[in-house]
Amino acid sequence: MKYDHILIRFGEMSTKGKNRKRFVYRLKRNIEKKLRDFKKIEIEQTRDRLYIRLNGESHENIIEQLKHVFGIQSFSLAMRTENDLEKIKETALAAIKELPYEGKTFKVTAKRAYKQFPVGSNELNYEIGSYILRNTENLTVNVHEPDIDLRVEVRQGGTDITCKDIPGAGGLPVGTSGKAMLMLSGGIDSPVAGYLAMKRGLEIEAVHFFSPPFTSERAKQKVIDLVKKLTEYSGKIKLHIVPFTEIQQTIQKQVPDGYSLISTRRMMLRITDALRQKHNALAIVTGESLGQVASQTLESMATINDVTTTPILRPLVAMDKTEIIEIAKKIDTFDISVRPYEDCCTIFTPSAPKTRPKKEKAAHYESFVDFESFIHEAVNKTETLIIDQNYKNIEEFEELF
Ligand code: ATP
Ligand code: MG
Repeated sequence: MKYDHILIRFGEMSTKGKNRKRFVYRLKRNIEKKLRDFKKIEIEQTRDRLYIRLNGESHENIIEQLKHVFGIQSFSLAMRTENDLEKIKETALAAIKELPYEGKTFKVTAKRAYKQFPVGSNELNYEIGSYILRNTENLTVNVHEPDIDLRVEVRQGGTDITCKDIPGAGGLPVGTSGKAMLMLSGGIDSPVAGYLAMKRGLEIEAVHFFSPPFTSERAKQKVIDLVKKLTEYSGKIKLHIVPFTEIQQTIQKQVPDGYSLISTRRMMLRITDALRQKHNALAIVTGESLGQVASQTLESMATINDVTTTPILRPLVAMDKTEIIEIAKKIDTFDISVRPYEDCCTIFTPSAPKTRPKKEKAAHYESFVDFESFIHEAVNKTETLIIDQNYKNIEEFEELF
C-alpha cells in the first residue's frame, strides 16, 4: 500500500460562513491550475477538506507546487480507507511501513470526528498502537516526543491516515478578495507588496512606468522577471507597461525641482487609477512604507494620495527594510530586484526633494500643463503583456531569430 492521496486543510477560511463555498471552489480551481501538468490526478472536495488523488503521479513535485498556493493551511500525504476498524488498523500499519521506521518511536493520535463510528478516540489509539507494535520490529511507543506522529481521523466519508503536516502558504485563495492594480517598480519593495496582497486573496495586475531611452530594455526585462516570480503564486498576471518619458520630461521642465518627485508620483497614481478603472479593479497596491525615503513621509503620502479617492493598499507600511528583504529572499525576487538597471525614478530624482510637500502647491505647479491629455495618451499607448511561467525573456527571443 502506498500514500495515494494528499490531504489539504484550509484553516482560516473554513470559518468564513457564507463565503465558504466560494472560497473552497476558488481554492480548488487554483490548485487545478497549479497542477495542470499532472494529468492523472483528481481533486475531490468534502465539507472541510480537499483531497488530491494521486493515481500514480509521484508526490514530490506536487508537494513543491502546493507550497505556492494561498489558502492552504497545511497538507499531508495520506492513505484513505473505509470506516472499518480492521481496515483502519491495516492501513495505519501500511502507513508506518512506508516510512523509514526501524529504530524509531511513534504514537497514534486518533480523532473521531464522525461520532456515529462505534469506537472512541482512546480505544482507537490503543487498538491501532498495539496492532502496529505486534506487526513491526524495532519500533517503540513514545507519547511525548515521538519520531512519528501517526494521525488517524475518522470522518463521515472515510478515515484519513497521515504522519506529517507540511505547512502551506497560508492566506486566502487568490481571487477571493477581488482585484487590485500593483504599482511595480524594479525595486525590492513592490514585488513583496504584490506577494502580500495576493496572500490576502487579491488578484493583481501589475503597472510599470517605463521611460525609454533613459531606462533600458534590461530594466523592462527585470520587471518581467519579477512578475514571472509572482505568477508562481497566482497563475497568469497582466503587466501593463506605461510609456512615461514625455510626462517625466514635462514635469522636469514645468515643476520646480523640490516638487518634481511628488508630481511624478501623482501622475503615476493618476495613470494607474485610470488603468484600474479600465480593467475593473477596486484598489491600488504600492510598495510604500513609512519613512524610508523623501517620498514616503506622511506629508508626501498625503500629497500623492490627493489625486484619487481609490483605496491605496500599502502592505509594507509598518515593516522595516530588513523584514521586507527577508520576504524578498524567501520569494526569490531579491536577486532580480538588486540587478543594477536604473528605473525611471532614479534617473529623474532631484537632488533635494521636499519632505513636506503641500498638495495645494503641487496642484498649482501642475496646473500650467494639460496633464489630463498626457495621461489619456499614456493610457492609450500602454502595452499589456500576459506573463506566465513560460513567458520567454528577451535573450531567449534573440536566440530564436
Ligand atoms: P520599490 O523598492 O518598490 O521600488 P522604493 O522603496 O524604491 O520602492 P519609491 O521609489 O518611493 O520606494 O516608490 C514607492 C512605490 O511607488 C513603489 O513601491 C511602487 O509601488 C511605486 N513605483 C515607483 N516607481 C515605479 C515605477 N517605475 N513603476 C511602477 N510603480 C512604481
Ligand atoms: Mg524604487
